[in-house]
Amino acid sequence: MYLDFHTHFSSADPDLVQDFIKNCERLECRAAIFGGPRYGGRWCAVPNEEVFRVCAESGGWLIPMAEFSLWDAEPDLSEIRRLVDLGARGFKFILPYYGYDHDLYMPVYEELEKLGKPALFHTGLVSPAPEDAIFRRPMIDNMRPIRLDRVARSFPKLKIVAAHLGTAMYREECASLVVHHPNLYFDLAGGGAFWGVTAPQLAKLMTHDDWARSPDTRNYRKMVFGSDAKIGLTAPMEAAIQTCRSLLLRNFVPEEDIQDIMGGTAAAWLGVKE
Ligand SMILES: [Zn+2]
Repeated sequence: MYLDFHTHFSSADPDLVQDFIKNCERLECRAAIFGGPRYGGRWCAVPNEEVFRVCAESGGWLIPMAEFSLWDAEPDLSEIRRLVDLGARGFKFILPYYGYDHDLYMPVYEELEKLGKPALFHTGLVSPAPEDAIFRRPMIDNMRPIRLDRVARSFPKLKIVAAHLGTAMYREECASLVVHHPNLYFDLAGGGAFWGVTAPQLAKLMTHDDWARSPDTRNYRKMVFGSDAKIGLTAPMEAAIQTCRSLLLRNFVPEEDIQDIMGGTAAAWLGVKE
């Protein structure tokens, strides 16, 4: 059984939702799924409550994640607790007003650490949007992997996943942080990531620069399988399963570790039984 930690609830169309679930069944892959993104209070997709409702009726194939907006006002921590009470097993962050490591957002991470919920952060490149001209915020800089350094250090029990391993722009920056911070993980979600990294490149990125550590495959265990598949665009899930397995096999990662990377690690965080 696989578990895809990075999928988008991008449409509430019941037929498309059923197609997505059928694809999960075919691939034996559960999907942690979230709505959003919300850019400056504007919904672009499906609200959390609707996501949770559909997940509850999915026969266990869809695992609810909450989208939570990091914007310019003090975050409402009771909203985080409310979302967890409604069923959120983890949280997704993207498009923050300030950098992820801004003082304003520290209580959010503290709360998630207390609640034992993992956090998935978009890192690296993001396409321009019409809202950019309204808010005039530095989005790529706000989501650089380096912005997770303070978060990882400050909340050592919080499980953090840097999505897309920084994208091509910040690949090395992101990988250096991942191999140094015990609680910082990564995914290769999106064709630009799982098709963009070759097996030798991944091996180099996963090598710790401390000479005293013998070269082994332990750092690969910081990878959490994610595809970036969407409701209405299921194909990346199968492509990502095949490509990620192949990247790991070609680096001689033991099968036991591959199973954790492809689902076991995230299943434990999300409280999903195999
Ligand atoms: Zn995504």
